[in-house]
Amino acid sequence: MSLKGKAALITGSTSGIGLGIAEEMAKAGCNIIMNGLGEPAVIRALQDRITNYGVRVRYIEADVSSPTECRALMNQTLAEYGGLDILVNNAGIQHVAPVENFATERWDAVLATNLSSAFHLIAAVIPTMRSKGYGRIINIASVHGLVGSENKSAYVASKHGLIGLTKVVALETARDGITCNAICPGWVLTPIVEAQISQRMDREGIERQVAERRLLEEKQPSGRFSRPSDIGALAVFLCSESAGNITGASLPVDGAWTAQ
Ligand code: NAD
Repeated sequence: MSLKGKAALITGSTSGIGLGIAEEMAKAGCNIIMNGLGEPAVIRALQDRITNYGVRVRYIEADVSSPTECRALMNQTLAEYGGLDILVNNAGIQHVAPVENFATERWDAVLATNLSSAFHLIAAVIPTMRSKGYGRIINIASVHGLVGSENKSAYVASKHGLIGLTKVVALETARDGITCNAICPGWVLTPIVEAQISQRMDREGIERQVAERRLLEEKQPSGRFSRPSDIGALAVFLCSESAGNITGASLPVDGAWTAQ
């Protein structure tokens, strides 16, 4: 699958799933605009690693929980690349607490990072995609955009919202050569999940292997984690011509979690 000559902005691509998507897209020949938090030296090393695939790699710093920084990120991207072919809204955070103890600032931060950022970036990119007659918008939602889990009120609300936004954008762009889809991963072994494994080890006084097994057994019938590259491969496919009529969809990669 070739994405040669195209450019993709992937939010939160300094870690986990976003990094996996950046690598798979770079392997397909796509130029990459990275974004995300992290140590400058670590980010430079990641940039170098992806540059090895023979594509142009740029990092633009922006805190996507800020509407102003989202607009600035997109303005800078459009100015430097003369447009944008692919937008992947991937940056996301988690906070776990029962709803009655859920701190208002954490609620606001989860909604701003996981949902509102996608709105601001999509709104800013649509005119240029429409003028080119090609665009691919991929929102990294979650199984939690389709079903709930206790103690994750803000996360589940943000991901359900992201799926709603995906459907509306797909409808508004259906005749413009633009597609907008959501990918809904189950458990993928990344830092966001590492934190939940450690919490479980502490809470239940168990070994890492047992904590991993319990996490998987509870929700993901396949009994194994997905890899960031699995999500990346699906994202690459969604950018192809063959996927041009897949739009408004929410695609689970969840080992049958949501089939239950
Ligand atoms: P991660 O913690 O490894 O990566 C999150 C990325 O988002 C990092 O690059 C981080 O720097 C960036 N980020 C966080 N806040 C940001 C901000 N304010 N501004 C800019 N960048 C910011 O987590 P991950 O597992 O790779 O998660 C990526 C996405 O996939 C998230 O939206 C998450 O909800 C979703 N997801 C993950 C899983 C999983 O099992 N790992 C499952 C379903 C969905």
